[in-house]
Amino acid sequence: AQTICAPLPVLGRDVTVPLVTGGEVTYAALDYAASAPALQRVWDDVAAYAPYYGSVHRGAGYLSQLSTDLFENARRTVEEFLDCRPDDQLIFTRSTTDSLNLLAAALPADCQVFVFETEHHASLLPWQDARVTYLNAPRTPGQAVETLEKALADRDPHGPALVCVTGASNVTGELWPVRELAAAAHAHGARIVLDAAQLAPHHPVSVQDLDVDWIAFSGHKLYAPFGSGVLAGRADWLQAADPYLAGGGASRKVTRREDGGVDVEWHESAARHEAGSPNVIGAYSIASACKALTEAGFDTLVAREQHLIEKVRVGLAEVPEVRVLSLFGDDAPRVGVISFVVDGWNSSHFAAALSAEYGIGVRDGLFCAHPLLRTLLGTDPQTQGECGAPEAAPGEKSLNAIRVSFGAGTPDEHVDRFVSAVKELVTAGAKWTYHTENGRCVP
Ligand code: PMP
Repeated sequence: AQTICAPLPVLGRDVTVPLVTGGEVTYAALDYAASAPALQRVWDDVAAYAPYYGSVHRGAGYLSQLSTDLFENARRTVEEFLDCRPDDQLIFTRSTTDSLNLLAAALPADCQVFVFETEHHASLLPWQDARVTYLNAPRTPGQAVETLEKALADRDPHGPALVCVTGASNVTGELWPVRELAAAAHAHGARIVLDAAQLAPHHPVSVQDLDVDWIAFSGHKLYAPFGSGVLAGRADWLQAADPYLAGGGASRKVTRREDGGVDVEWHESAARHEAGSPNVIGAYSIASACKALTEAGFDTLVAREQHLIEKVRVGLAEVPEVRVLSLFGDDAPRVGVISFVVDGWNSSHFAAALSAEYGIGVRDGLFCAHPLLRTLLGTDPQTQGECGAPEAAPGEKSLNAIRVSFGAGTPDEHVDRFVSAVKELVTAGAKWTYHTENGRCVP
């Protein structure tokens, strides 16, 4: 058996929270899929740089030059981390949502977009101004490829087309067959963008090996919560598009015309889509996280995460009232993201009890993936996180779900505490009563 490495040091491991039942406990952050804690290494790098902060691409002074170098070196580090092609462009954005909206704004005229209904809203919704085909949820990875093949074969073969797909689901954690989907897209003359928000923090991702045209992810899910994200990939569509934001930094030359108007020459480099003063700390922190993960080694990080997944999987399987949500089957390969419902429980009530009585932070709700939750729950879900009456009695359908997620900084104790808390809540019930306040379920 592979040796399991220690969890990587992250911030917040010593945070204690009060329990409603008395006393306090160290907080078990099991909501990495929403936002992961900063790696200690990222925090140290940011702290060491902070006194030297200066404006990027905007000054001859020492600090400005230093910041510019750090920003551009960060770009190269992340390009290397993603194994980009030599002529790819990497744009620092605010987040995955921002990256995908940027690409959506850069689509050539008449572009057709293909997207599975199972996507996170960030990859489902930005394409509304294009001709979008929404593909039904597949039940096996093979069916995903077949569904896409069929949709692409039926398309108008002359115009441009883009497929958008997530690498690992933010709801089920399941891995999607990205390489096969990319091959299908390319065989039909389409391009593909990979939403790696949940994949990049857990697995090495190679743009060249997967053969995807673009990739998007967020710093705050990759242990670098300082407000930056990334879009990287083919330069041609990006260079041909209008700048995502108009402003300084994106423009090479601006002149008044004789008729009184203004002419602009835009940059063709990444700067074209990075108008305004860029978030150098955000970019630098992502690069620091990329280095830290690479140095720790994905082999050992993946082994550790699989060990934690197995603990949760086995623990939940011992509770007959728990149903784990999946498209491809409970044993499908996944990252450390697991959603489930509990018979006889409202999910928000269950999550509130995990927090208030055990100091465990999980997420409840629909995870910004409403059509997917509808498919997984088999009923129209409710959107609010209120307690309501305990519902979903055996045989009834749950209206929302609970998600536990973890990663490189998670110690065994957190998932062990989670598994015993689930068992205790299901057999003994909550020790406290809960009510709805401002739309939230609270003790
Ligand atoms: N895609 C996926 C798969 C996600 O899980 C998320 C965040 N939950 C996003 C996109 C959006 O990321 P952000 O909120 O950082 O823009």
